Amino acid sequence: MDNTVFVRVSLFLGIFAIMAVLEAWLPARQSVLGRASRWKGNLSMVVLGALCSKVVLPASLVGVALWGDNAGIGVFNNVNMNHWVAIALCVLLLDMVIYWQHRLFHKIPLLWRIHKMHHADSHVDTTTGLRFHPIEIVLSLFIKAAVVTTFGIPAIAIVIFEVGLNGFALFNHANIRLTQKWDDRIGKVFITQRLHRIHHSQLKAESNSNFGFSVSWWDKLFGSFKSRATKPDEDIAIGQKDYPATNDNAGIIALLKMPFNR
Ligand SMILES: [Zn+2]
Repeated sequence: MDNTVFVRVSLFLGIFAIMAVLEAWLPARQSVLGRASRWKGNLSMVVLGALCSKVVLPASLVGVALWGDNAGIGVFNNVNMNHWVAIALCVLLLDMVIYWQHRLFHKIPLLWRIHKMHHADSHVDTTTGLRFHPIEIVLSLFIKAAVVTTFGIPAIAIVIFEVGLNGFALFNHANIRLTQKWDDRIGKVFITQRLHRIHHSQLKAESNSNFGFSVSWWDKLFGSFKSRATKPDEDIAIGQKDYPATNDNAGIIALLKMPFNR
């Protein structure tokens, strides 16, 4: 499993670099704050989230999966099924769990306090896809660990799912805009940048839609898909009203404190 770390980090950096170049070259929207101000806080959250994850679960999800496999625990470790079909089903299952987790983080006030920090970014670009409070990262890790144990998710499914989740988050937060024709075509299967910006709208009716991180079919299946915002993409008010676009609101400590404000 050691060599997956190299593959995962390379893919992450590669997708990040492509998105960063694209949004610098052809930005969909202009940011009030400079890149340096927002990126410092947003990128720090990835590092802090990863460190906290290591502290609470040093073995990682892959380690949990290998342990479950050895112990013969979990649904998929106890059914006779084609290995690749099981992997595909497990990746789909994890993705659906993350859809519902995201929806719950909006629905339950205590969880919204934590997730609100992600939405308080005054601009959406590829680094917003990395801006999650360490508490959200740790809670999500526990939820995933419970699913991995209960269902006996194979380690390879976790690697595919996590590479996909990170890649899609970098992709659909990028500050780029596809042509409407391509946006509608790709949006039939995947959450595009424009669709995800609807989720970052200040209007509750709009942010309570398009919860998917990768495919758009969970939102369609569970009735939360919104193909158009009330305003054109370039005019959507992004972020949270109580966190205007200031350098203070983009600072590392400010981000960490947000769940505890008011
Ligand atoms: Zn959200």
